[in-house]
Amino acid sequence: NTETDYELIGKNEVLSYYIPREKFSHKGTYGHSLIIGGSYGKIGAVHLAAKACLHTGSGLVTVYVPQCGYIPLQTNFPEAMVITDVDERHISNIDFDISPTVIGIGMGMGKDKKTVKAFIDFLNSNDTPLVVDADALNILSESKELLKKLPSQTVLTPHPKELERLIGKWDGDFEKLEMAKAFSKMYDCVLVIKGANTITVYDGKGYVNTTGNPGMATGGTGDVLTGMITGLVAQGYEPLRASIIGVYLHGRAGDIEVEKTGYQALTASSVIEGIGRAFLDLF
Ligand code: AMP
Ligand code: MG
Repeated sequence: NTETDYELIGKNEVLSYYIPREKFSHKGTYGHSLIIGGSYGKIGAVHLAAKACLHTGSGLVTVYVPQCGYIPLQTNFPEAMVITDVDERHISNIDFDISPTVIGIGMGMGKDKKTVKAFIDFLNSNDTPLVVDADALNILSESKELLKKLPSQTVLTPHPKELERLIGKWDGDFEKLEMAKAFSKMYDCVLVIKGANTITVYDGKGYVNTTGNPGMATGGTGDVLTGMITGLVAQGYEPLRASIIGVYLHGRAGDIEVEKTGYQALTASSVIEGIGRAFLDLF
């Protein structure tokens, strides 16, 4: 509740956290990300998140989708490995035989009854670090008991509506941030409050992002962000830093691409294309 509770995040802050890529490294050095989500008609959300995760430097990326996602992903995204659920259209039983470094979950997942049950069962047995977005946040919002099951320092990436479902209604920005801080403390989670000036909240502090533009107010950009944060956790960034850096680079990628497209034509796919330049631009 004082100015010192907030820090502006620009290039210098991000650079101070940056972990260089080592010469004698291999894909195993940079982690294995598992992206879980998708449902019939929303496989694109997983595709965007997984592609963003790969472009952010994750050594390996596997996606877990309902069966209807298998052909489109294997056809259009050769770098990703694909694991399918037993169900054709919805995730119904989250079951895999790999040991990922981190899991990003929720994009395009929907809230089918089977999916809600599968997600709850998953939380009851999971201890892999998590980045949680979209419908997985909406399912979490319905139960405090579920929120307590999250591994410590889980990253949650709500947009304003998802945030309201999670923490309740607020009156003004000041109250919103105070409620977010209390929520983050209560469940030991990193809250990435998305919007024009995304603020990441953890341990009583807020980190205010300085990149991004209104061209990014378009479908799929949030999925891209979740993939990026997941990819950074895979590489060994602690969840708070992964969130701060991910949000910065996501906005920077959007700022670089919007120079070519203008606001109206910017898409989530173009933000992914900009990730490489956003990294290069740090140096
Ligand atoms: P979602 O609503 O989940 O697709 O997430 C949208 C993403 O785009 C978030 O990362 C937002 O921070 C970003 N975004 C949306 N609107 C704006 C805006 N007006 N300026 C900058 N970033 C934005
Ligand atoms: Mg979203």
